[in-house]
Formats: sequence, structure tokens, C-alpha cells
Amino acid sequence: MNSTLEQTLLSAIRTIPDYPKPGILFRDITTLLGNARAFRRAVDELVHPYSGTGVSKIAGIEARGFILGGAMAHQLSAGFVPIRKKGKLPHTTVRVAYSLEYGVDEMEMHTDAVQPGEKVILVDDLIATGGTAEGAVKLLRQMGAEIVAACFVIDLPDLGGRKKLEALGVNVRTLIAFEGH
Ligand code: AMP
Repeated sequence: MNSTLEQTLLSAIRTIPDYPKPGILFRDITTLLGNARAFRRAVDELVHPYSGTGVSKIAGIEARGFILGGAMAHQLSAGFVPIRKKGKLPHTTVRVAYSLEYGVDEMEMHTDAVQPGEKVILVDDLIATGGTAEGAVKLLRQMGAEIVAACFVIDLPDLGGRKKLEALGVNVRTLIAFEGH
């Protein structure tokens, strides 16, 4: 059966109620990653608009953004840049605080990971409130990167993350959406 991209992705993502805490519907992409066809289709679709556009780095947000970002980087013949929780990167870093649902945390990137003017795509599995991606956008811009787009497999539009990034002038690409939290 030649199912649509949306059907393929929706049926490959597992929803876990009340994880990691009551009231959250956790959208688990490990089932998508473990499904060869769904994984390939997701990555193909994420990179599709950007082949031949001179993107030279994919920046992935720890940890699921690393898996998608590595595959995207390979497909676009680009390099990969990890954006990590504080204290994990060994060389000189830039650091930014970002808001979580409750409280704040910090993320880092190596200062030499991107050059000023370099075209970069940011990727994570899911955008909810947009706090995490906003932090990553700030780091990349601080180092002078040109953010071509921020890409996510899943959008939770009710939480407003896409609008938050668009208000920062970032072009946002998502493949599927779930209502609610
Ligand atoms: P936010 O900063 O609110 O946009 O949250 C995005 C980050 O939290 C991403 O790294 C997601 O992987 C993770 N996340 C937030 N909400 C969910 C959810 N409902 N299911 C799975 N992951 C989530």
C-alpha cells in the first residue's frame, strides 16, 4: 500500500499517556526510528526543500535531534553540530538559558561549530512551547549562523512554539501535528 506521508508518520509514532508526568501525552518517536520506511520517509521529507540550497550544517538538539540531524546531514552532504545540555561539550562553548514548562535549564554549543554567515538548519523531533528551539536559535545566531529553517517531525500547535519561532524570523517546517499537549 502506498500510504500518504502523514498516515505513515502518524501510525509510526506511539503515544504514551501521563509520561513523564500526569496529563502529558508523550509522542514517542522511537517506534518511528525503528521503522525503516517511516524513518526514511521522515528524513527525506525534512531535507526535501533544502537540497542544492547551500546548507552546510545541520544543528541537532539533544538527544532526538541528533538522530534525525545525523541522517539529514548525510543526505544533504552537510556537517552536523550538536546542541547539548550544559556540561557535556568538551571544548569552548557558548551557553544560553532556556525555559522549560517548569523552570529553566541551559544548553551549549561549541564556539567553533559554525562560522559567521554559514547556512544552518536546526532540527528536533518535536516543537511544543518552542522554548528549547528558541534557545538553540539564540546560540546559532550568537555565532553568526544564518538559520535557513527550523525543522521538526511533530508540531503541537496548541502550545504556540511555531509562532514563537516565526516571530523571531525563523522559517519553520513541521511534518505532522497533534492537537492538545
Ligand atoms: P518545548 O521547548 O516546549 O518546545 O519542548 C520541546 C522539547 O521537549 C523537545 O526536545 C521534545 O522532544 C520535548 N517534548 C516536549 N513535549 C513533548 C511531548 N508531548 N512528547 C514528546 N516530547 C516532548
